[in-house]
Amino acid sequence: MYDFIIIGGGILGMSTAMQLKQAWPDRRMLVVEKEREAACHQTGHNSGVIHAGVYYTPGSLKARFCLEGNRATKAFCETHAIAFESCGKLLVATNDLEMQRMQALWERTAANGLSREWLGPEALAEREPNITGIGGIFVPSSGIVDYAAVTRAMADEFERMGGEIRYNAEVTAMAERRREVVVTSTADEFTGRYLVTCSGLMADRVVRMLGQNPGFTICPFRGEYYRLPPERNDIVNHLIYPIPDPAMPFLGVHLTRMIDGSVTVGPNAVLAFKREGYRKRDVSPRDLAQMLTNPGILRVLGRNLRPGLTELKNSLHKRGYLELVRKYCPSLTLDDLRPYPAGVRAQAVSRDGKLVDDFLFVNTPRTVNVGNAPSPAATSAIPIGAHIVDKVRKIVAA
Ligand SMILES: Cc1cc2nc3c(=O)[nH]c(=O)nc-3n(C[C@H](O)[C@H](O)[C@H](O)COP(=O)(O)OP(=O)(O)OC[C@H]3O[C@@H](n4cnc5c(N)ncnc54)[C@H](O)[C@@H]3O)c2cc1C
Repeated sequence: MYDFIIIGGGILGMSTAMQLKQAWPDRRMLVVEKEREAACHQTGHNSGVIHAGVYYTPGSLKARFCLEGNRATKAFCETHAIAFESCGKLLVATNDLEMQRMQALWERTAANGLSREWLGPEALAEREPNITGIGGIFVPSSGIVDYAAVTRAMADEFERMGGEIRYNAEVTAMAERRREVVVTSTADEFTGRYLVTCSGLMADRVVRMLGQNPGFTICPFRGEYYRLPPERNDIVNHLIYPIPDPAMPFLGVHLTRMIDGSVTVGPNAVLAFKREGYRKRDVSPRDLAQMLTNPGILRVLGRNLRPGLTELKNSLHKRGYLELVRKYCPSLTLDDLRPYPAGVRAQAVSRDGKLVDDFLFVNTPRTVNVGNAPSPAATSAIPIGAHIVDKVRKIVAA
């Protein structure tokens, strides 16, 4: 019998496991992960940005945890000798409408407690000679890291303290009883007093296994990238982001310096026909059927038909994708866009057809389940883990 079982070996599962073990060093703990190693899904397929917390609604969990997470991630990397860089982020406005939206973001960054700098066209050109814009906001605390490396370090820390990890064990069923939770997996059956699930793209299905109606469904959105050729790696000095449409803050491809020295362009957001499908041609009949019969998802798709189709068009036509980034980086050419692996975002959609914006948790008497943890959840993994430990403390004390 374990004291705590944690399902999911992404950054949230490993951060939670590590912090649970720090809180209760003598308790038996187990992480169960269906893949052969940690960080195989969202955590290993993202932009690697340590976000500062520019866009999030002041007072939301996202705003709070991102700000704390930015500092905590950098501190964790320093302690564990993981490479990261505080390279800063530049939001670039290219027309009058974007200037207006940038003003609103300027106010939001103040409300979110960020240090930042307003740049006129000259200051922008000085910082970024290859970027064209009429103004910008510079946020110095944004950074870059390899989140898979961070997750592996958390897993090592958990094991060093005596925690156990079972890879290649897909959880297929669960039963929450009065004094325990029984977890059935393809490898073995495990029993724990308490359970935490951080199952990313499978979050709703895992909650259902507990006999609960999660109240949301995961809608997978593929984020496709390109990588610039090595001779273009010095094209930017910072992370370069367009000013988003406030109605679709997650849309807008950015130029991202990666911690390995390369530069990626992306990601877009295209409806994926398979939850863990990284190629355009990946289709899961089960996933697709669930999406197309889910009233909440159908409502989201119906409401966002036009931007959805534009994303799809630009996904299929490289030139359209190129034009998105040429708006602020005009020297890029088609030949500069080289293949790079995509990621798939787990986005919770509520029953009434809304994209759930904030981080979301579902509790039962013996379990805490992460329901919605889109970007910036990698940045926020340490405070999210601490938040889950607090929730578990309350459950244990009850
Ligand atoms: C394209 C893209 C770009 C992003 N960019 C950034 C960024 O720059 N900065 C940032 O902060 N965030 C970013 N994010 C968001 C961030 O990557 C995720 O929010 C974060 O990785 C979520 O971590 P997780 O542990 O919840 O999920 P995951 O990493 O997906 O982990 C979930 C784990 O659960 C396991 N699992 C699921 N079901 C079962 C089961 N039945 N049995 C056993 N194991 C199971 C899976 O195999 C997986 O390993 C991005 C995401 C994407 C997709």
